[in-house]
Amino acid sequence: MTAAPGIASALLGVYARVGPTFVAGEGVELIAADGRRYLDFVAGIGVNALGYDSPVIRDAITRALDSGLVHVSNLYRTEPGERLAELLVARSFAQQVFFCNSGAEANEAAFKFARKLTGKPGIVAFSGSFHGRLFASLAATDRPDYRRPFEPLVPEVRIIPLGDRAAAEAAITPDRTAAVIIEPVQGEGGVRPVSTEWVAFLRRLCRDRRVVLIFDEVQCGLGRTGTAFAYEQTGVTPDLLTLAKPLAGGLPMGAVLLTDEVAGALAPGDHATTFGGGPLVAAVAQAVVETISAPDFLARVRESGAHLAGRLAGFPGRMRAVAEVRGRGLMWGIVLREPAAPVVAAARERGLLVTTAGPTVIRLVPPLVISQADLDRGVDTLAEVLA
Ligand code: PLP
Repeated sequence: MTAAPGIASALLGVYARVGPTFVAGEGVELIAADGRRYLDFVAGIGVNALGYDSPVIRDAITRALDSGLVHVSNLYRTEPGERLAELLVARSFAQQVFFCNSGAEANEAAFKFARKLTGKPGIVAFSGSFHGRLFASLAATDRPDYRRPFEPLVPEVRIIPLGDRAAAEAAITPDRTAAVIIEPVQGEGGVRPVSTEWVAFLRRLCRDRRVVLIFDEVQCGLGRTGTAFAYEQTGVTPDLLTLAKPLAGGLPMGAVLLTDEVAGALAPGDHATTFGGGPLVAAVAQAVVETISAPDFLARVRESGAHLAGRLAGFPGRMRAVAEVRGRGLMWGIVLREPAAPVVAAARERGLLVTTAGPTVIRLVPPLVISQADLDRGVDTLAEVLA
């Protein structure tokens, strides 16, 4: 494997990096070393919700650095993390928050919290799921190819068919199951919004069987679907909710939102992480969450999302390669009748960045601040490529 000129080849080859080397970003565009601009419908796979060189993030970082505090140990209290937790609690169903550094870590923490509360070991996830690549989150991820080389993973984690009530009734048991984990809109598994009936069924089942319901909103949370949290559109609330990707504007941060009931089972020493909720990341996350959860901002995401949905709706009828389009807000999948990778490459050649979600789905997760004109520009390029 050859490295791009000027880039260290000492990086472990676990990423199949493609295309240009990026040196700058502005708004909804990434700028390559040769000066070429790329319209970005990937946005760090849902991380760069406010786009590149956002004044919100720039100001938050600058102000946070004025205090001289990048990191303070969780042995002590700092204000930014406390304020961020209060903000997330005020905007959601939760009463307490735990901060960590990534989506997988948030899910691992959620599994521990559920086991501690219930005293039971089992975790149930669904076909099409993606919850991360650490040992328990990988066990709950429906990608056998990712799992197999690292087995044995965490025991008592099962993946059952999404939407199969009989399978859920059999797998989710009062005596063995601690938690059920589900993405309200599956991301990596092909951009698949889960039906509200299914989520309501799981909510009832979990309540009846004393099982913790975890919503993984690492990808679909924080404005992506047009509401602050995706669960708001399902009609039910979870017991635990995990966040990461856009939370701290591109700085690494994850979070678990907890009800009082789950939080009550946890005591000092039950879980910890050195960097979790440090003052710099927390201050930036506060600015991001305040921006994204503002009613005007969310209304604009819904408008842009409706515009994108309207533009994509014609694809299946007009293009033989397209079987279906599905999504919510600014999270869309174009389901193809053929492999998606060549389409991604052809779009990139034309200056548009998109990515896949599984072998035959093109995923669109642009910055939430994208204009309708830039959405049109991207959709026109995709239409050209798919035609
Ligand atoms: N959960 C979901 C729904 C995700 O999409 C991802 C990452 O794509 C993860 C968890 C894992 O997050 P991270 O890569 O930050 O560990």
